[in-house]
Amino acid sequence: MNTPEKSFFAPARAWKYLTKKPVTVPMEDILITPREASDRYRGFHINDWEKCIGCGTCSKICPTDAITMIEFEELPDVEGSKPERPSIDYGRCSFCGLCVDICTTGSLQMTKEYLHISKDPNTFFFIPTEEGIHGIKKPLGYVRDEDSDLLDLEREEMEIDPPEIRKTSFIEMVKGFSKEQAVREASRCVGCSICEKTCPAHMNIADYIKDIYDDDLQTGLKDLYKTNPLPAVCGRMCTHKCETVCTIGHRGEPIAIRWLKRYIVDNVPQDKYPEILDQEVIKKANAKVAIVGAGPAGLSAAYFLSLMGYEITVYEEKNRPGGVLNYGGPSYRLPDTAFEQDVNYIKSLGVKIITNTKVGKDITLEELKAKNDVIFVSTGFNKGRKLPIEGSDHEKVFDSLTILEEMKNYVRGEGPKPYIPKSLVVIGGGNVAMDVARSMLRLQNLEYKKSEVHVLSLERNFDEMPADEDEIVEGKEEGVIFHPGWGPVKVIVENGELKGVLFRKCLEVFDENGRFNPKYDESNTITVNADMVVMTVGQAPDYSYLPEEIQKNMKIERGRIKTNEYGQVEGVPWLFAGGDIVHGPDIIHGVADGHKAAQGIDQYIMDKQLSK
Ligand SMILES: Cc1cc2nc3c(=O)[nH]c(=O)nc-3n(C[C@H](O)[C@H](O)[C@H](O)COP(=O)(O)OP(=O)(O)OC[C@H]3O[C@@H](n4cnc5c(N)ncnc54)[C@H](O)[C@@H]3O)c2cc1C
Ligand code: SF4
Ligand code: SF4
Ligand code: SF4
Repeated sequence: MNTPEKSFFAPARAWKYLTKKPVTVPMEDILITPREASDRYRGFHINDWEKCIGCGTCSKICPTDAITMIEFEELPDVEGSKPERPSIDYGRCSFCGLCVDICTTGSLQMTKEYLHISKDPNTFFFIPTEEGIHGIKKPLGYVRDEDSDLLDLEREEMEIDPPEIRKTSFIEMVKGFSKEQAVREASRCVGCSICEKTCPAHMNIADYIKDIYDDDLQTGLKDLYKTNPLPAVCGRMCTHKCETVCTIGHRGEPIAIRWLKRYIVDNVPQDKYPEILDQEVIKKANAKVAIVGAGPAGLSAAYFLSLMGYEITVYEEKNRPGGVLNYGGPSYRLPDTAFEQDVNYIKSLGVKIITNTKVGKDITLEELKAKNDVIFVSTGFNKGRKLPIEGSDHEKVFDSLTILEEMKNYVRGEGPKPYIPKSLVVIGGGNVAMDVARSMLRLQNLEYKKSEVHVLSLERNFDEMPADEDEIVEGKEEGVIFHPGWGPVKVIVENGELKGVLFRKCLEVFDENGRFNPKYDESNTITVNADMVVMTVGQAPDYSYLPEEIQKNMKIERGRIKTNEYGQVEGVPWLFAGGDIVHGPDIIHGVADGHKAAQGIDQYIMDKQLSK
């Protein structure tokens, strides 16, 4: 390329500027009269700290690595958020706005403010708050386009049998994700781990979702088994509290964490578990542990203790392991194969499960103590309860667990046909009420080709009812008739025959202190005709297997045993407890308790060995 030749005197021309006035605009002038930026200007950030949850998604997307998450001690470390907030290095920021586009809560925004002049480089590291960079609120500049989103806010739809099929079927109704669905659902997760604090077992949720995205289900299975030996059961039945805090739920539908867990276990062959998990047993001491009750808590403790090399024997009163869900949880929600899948692997680790053996009747606790170093009790809340109202002693008035067990045994082909009423009244508004109502509705449809199931609860509307929304919606679709806001007065019995239940209007369930203290309008009553009534008003524990001597030394408050953080029973150091009899109220709390207790038992045994 030809360039013009430079004159020999060219450098000297610069000297002429020595006599000219400088054109630099003084800093003060600019600060006093800055020009208004255009409407969608990408200026300095602001961040609403009340809204921001510290998920760090803004930091992950930033193409110039300008965002660092900073931890703040003064921020509350609560479920659903991290005590961190983004700081921005304006030496790096290219003002692309991607962080604003992706912000999961919409807390991070950009203003029209564009001037910052300082000799101090530290002032270019800025932690945005609701105030702008100079402590003055400035108008918003660029805002995210509401029609396009970097996050995928819609959940992958789960295939479920239609109501016409469901209402006569006990076959599992939720079909599970296909590979395409699971990968797409996994791709919505931003990997922030915020959900993990809320999961009682603190499962490695972000990791196993990433494994699904990477199509690496073997690593996914390993990640599940780090904290939860009942993934097939939890993948179907977990109360999935983690999803209530999922970061994506702030602007869209939370990630289907529970269904993704199920996808992994549905797609890894059971016979490959030992080879894939390849778990090393680290034997520290020769010691034996007896576990009473093969529910989620007992099975979880058995799994973790067996990995520590202890000899484990589980004693179970019923004919199968699994706990109350084994005989109470309806098969359309939880097929037997799910429990078998989880239990088979636990057994493969050498755990001995002795069924049909009730401790306190077939073998005493003292006998167990003589044969073992430690006992872990996880006997659940297995006694059904009835309300002490007139007529509740009638033979067609059942507690929830008795009727659920009868129905399940019949459906399994292991018991006689239960009495199938033409009209059923279910008292209660929780998930157990839904299980009773929906199971009996299926039997009615199979028997009479029609159904009549009434669910009456104190709670005055569906929002107040403790049952899951899905359960209510699906129950309605199947034909369950709901009557929210009614409390039972008496069961009507005429000439020994059950006729129905008299209810009065419930005005309020809880008092101003949040205590259960229902108030009624006695003048407003209804009668619902029925030839069977089921009361789903909670369950109670049965501690008759614990000798009086032991019960005297321990504390039981409102039916629950007092333990330390690791399940060690206060006053009886060789006795550990977990699950519903300590915490409840669900499977995953039982799994978490079993894990904690295994750590506590290991420590107890180690301490004892050292002191020998
Ligand atoms: C109908 C119903 C539906 C439910 N649905 C859900 C759900 O969808 N999701 C969820 O997360 N949770 C659900 N739950 C709650 C959940 O089942 C419990 O929280 C969980 O099973 C508690 O586990 P656990 O190990 O403490 O006790 P349990 O599961 O109750 O297990 C205790 C075991 O101990 C055995 N046992 C008792 N006494 C003795 C003895 N003396 N000797 C030997 N064995 C004994 C019992 O037979 C039982 O198998 C439901 C509960 C019910 C009743
Ligand atoms: S505007 Fe772009 S470069 Fe600046 S912090 Fe946000 S994502 Fe990073
Ligand atoms: S993405 Fe939004 S909510 Fe998450 S840390 Fe960043 S600013 Fe806060
Ligand atoms: S499931 Fe939700 S909360 Fe959990 S890691 Fe993924 S996006 Fe974050």
